[in-house]
Amino acid sequence: MKQIAILGSTGSIGRQALQVIDDFPDFIRPVALAAGSNRELLLEQAKKYRPLLISIQKKEDALWLRAELAGQRETKIYYGREGMLAVATCHAASMVLTAVSGAAGLEPTLAAIRARKDIALANKESLVAAGALVTSQARRRGVKILPVDSEHSAVWQCLNGEDPGDVARVILTASGGPFRCMKREEMIGVTPAMALQHPNWKMGPKITVDSATLMNKGLEVIEARWLFDLPYDKIKVIIHPQSIIHSMVEFNDGAVMAQLGVPDMRLPIQYALLYPRRLEGSVTGLQWPIDALTFEEPDVEKFPLLALAFEAGRTGGTMPAVLNAANEVAVKAFLTGEIAFMDIPQIVEQVMQSHRPREYDSLEEVLEADRWARRRAKELCTRG
Ligand code: NDP
Ligand code: MG
Repeated sequence: MKQIAILGSTGSIGRQALQVIDDFPDFIRPVALAAGSNRELLLEQAKKYRPLLISIQKKEDALWLRAELAGQRETKIYYGREGMLAVATCHAASMVLTAVSGAAGLEPTLAAIRARKDIALANKESLVAAGALVTSQARRRGVKILPVDSEHSAVWQCLNGEDPGDVARVILTASGGPFRCMKREEMIGVTPAMALQHPNWKMGPKITVDSATLMNKGLEVIEARWLFDLPYDKIKVIIHPQSIIHSMVEFNDGAVMAQLGVPDMRLPIQYALLYPRRLEGSVTGLQWPIDALTFEEPDVEKFPLLALAFEAGRTGGTMPAVLNAANEVAVKAFLTGEIAFMDIPQIVEQVMQSHRPREYDSLEEVLEADRWARRRAKELCTRG
């Protein structure tokens, strides 16, 4: 029986992880859950799973939960930053699923690693912002980082039993998002409602917008660099609109291994949670014969964030943290109607241009760059 803590249990990944757990109650048990503001759903989850520990962002919500769960003595209820860190380091958990959105996941991920919990990593922003720190701390403590992101799960599966030295390159697939076929001029009029319609995946709002700008793939390139210890010239992105091939690995002998499946996040979540077992869950497999699988090069003129992410990754130091933080601010401003869709890459680019990247050794140095980038991006968003 594996006992796990979930950071972001009320989100898209968190809810799907609990569905996976429902399929395998003899294998996995959630012992600690952290949420942001959805107190009703957290209450429901707490009643169903009876975890040792739950946490919510605001004190008033924690007080409400304490009243609602007065009869459930075994569940302790915390709040805020301390609460999230308590969930991340819960003594009973051997694994932490990081499913909060954004760089807010960085500090609890590092805390979980320090507490020697294996990490099922959905929160890619933590690796983007501080990949060097996260991976070196995990190595030092013998902590495993198991990818949940579908592309990285695919690469991990393709690398099973292979010698890392034989890898020629990793090919990350991208659906291309809802604006793949739209002309650049038409993209000026993109509204939040349009950007929130993803053709193949149902996800939280931030990553859905990132998929529409291709920033998601850019973040995944940096994520792949750290997860698989690859130089950037060994990471290629290809558009594959059907999202059936989740990614590929090309080896030195020219062979290409691909991992295929239905686009359903429960599959990579299950692989990370049950690794190395492959058991039958409730996701139905591919229906054969499958239709054509097609591929095209990404259009970086239309989607400049993909190129900016490669640039930030190659520059290194604090630049990826700045790229990520500026993007988080710009996406939020787009969703609230402050800026236009095509302003997102412009703001990220301008923030990157005014940043002097530095190498970092500590969380504080990364957070300082993150805060600087957020301030700068906010100024640019309000200036219009
Ligand atoms: P959602 O927005 O759906 O969920 C985010 C979760 O984090 C919610 O449970 C939210 O709580 C919680 N949360 C937000 N802020 C805080 C906080 N300050 N303290 C505690 N909890 C907080 O996001 P997704 O599930 O879509 O994405 C989560 C991560 O997984 C992201 O990093 C994303 O890039 C990655 N990912 C997601 C995929 C997907 O299919 N969704 C695919 C691959 C990667 P609440 O709702 O209660 O406010
Ligand atoms: Mg992905």
